[in-house]
Amino acid sequence: MGELRKDYFLDRWVIIASERGKRPHEFVQEQVKQKAGKCYFCPGSEDETPPEIFRIGAKNRWKMRVFPNKFAAVRQEGQASIKTDNIFYTFSANYGMHEVIVETNDHKKQLWDLAPKDIVDLISLYSMRIKELGKMNGIKYVQVFKNSGKEGGTSILHSHSQVIAYNKVPELVEQEAKAIKEFKEKMNICPYCCIINSEKDSFRRCFENRNFVAFAPYASRFPFEIWVLAKQHVKSITDLDNGQVKDLAEVMNSILKKLKKLNAPYNFMLHNSPAGEDFHFHIEILPRLATWAGFEFNGTIINTLPPEEAAKFYRGE
Ligand SMILES: [Zn+2]
Ligand SMILES: [Zn+2]
Ligand SMILES: [Zn+2]
Repeated sequence: MGELRKDYFLDRWVIIASERGKRPHEFVQEQVKQKAGKCYFCPGSEDETPPEIFRIGAKNRWKMRVFPNKFAAVRQEGQASIKTDNIFYTFSANYGMHEVIVETNDHKKQLWDLAPKDIVDLISLYSMRIKELGKMNGIKYVQVFKNSGKEGGTSILHSHSQVIAYNKVPELVEQEAKAIKEFKEKMNICPYCCIINSEKDSFRRCFENRNFVAFAPYASRFPFEIWVLAKQHVKSITDLDNGQVKDLAEVMNSILKKLKKLNAPYNFMLHNSPAGEDFHFHIEILPRLATWAGFEFNGTIINTLPPEEAAKFYRGE
């Protein structure tokens, strides 16, 4: 049994191939062995990171720290404006700010070991950095994301998130904003608001509380892919009130606890409104238990775990 599925509104296609699929427990990853050596994200190494921007907690007992990434992908140098030379060559400097948020002072803990109240703190740091960096000259978008585990693309095991503010709206966020606008023009309602209504009681439902829902999207690209959406039509994480932040932290905690059971490497990305445009805030969580190969890089993805099965795993069935 399998299906070719199209994303709710993007022109993005996925082959759900359950006949070659594994059962959820077959996705469990081996524990990564900790490499010996000094960790610069640990307490005691504060002077060896670039100068601190912010911390939560007291002088010697900080809980979370924000500082510039030593190996920044973008820098506050050169021209932020994008230009075209000779028709084909469109470019700018790799302009922007790249920051690290260390999520805990405990080297042995991962985000999935923290409590919902710690995730509330982390969300407040995300919002603070998005607001602050978004105001800076030449910045079009502030991307908050997390890479966890080797296949998630991280080389540093100490639990951390990253923030990249740069001179462009990421293509996927731009596509989503465009699709929202077009859908609204036709149907007079936000597509995400509609999707929430049809998914929150579907076979793909995973978690729900007063302000948030999480479900495995219909055309999931990855085994155990899960999206977290605000029930209210909120444009950005910076617009959430305290009750919404608390509920978001609770849902994120539930998801992370499940990913811990699989010891899954993963990425998550915040999808916020680009430059105040209409948008529906959500977080996309992409466990990295499958490797993309030739076929996937041409555009259509093969996912060997149907989202309906992934949802059962999240619901504990
Ligand atoms: Zn450490
Ligand atoms: Zn909406
Ligand atoms: Zn999105």
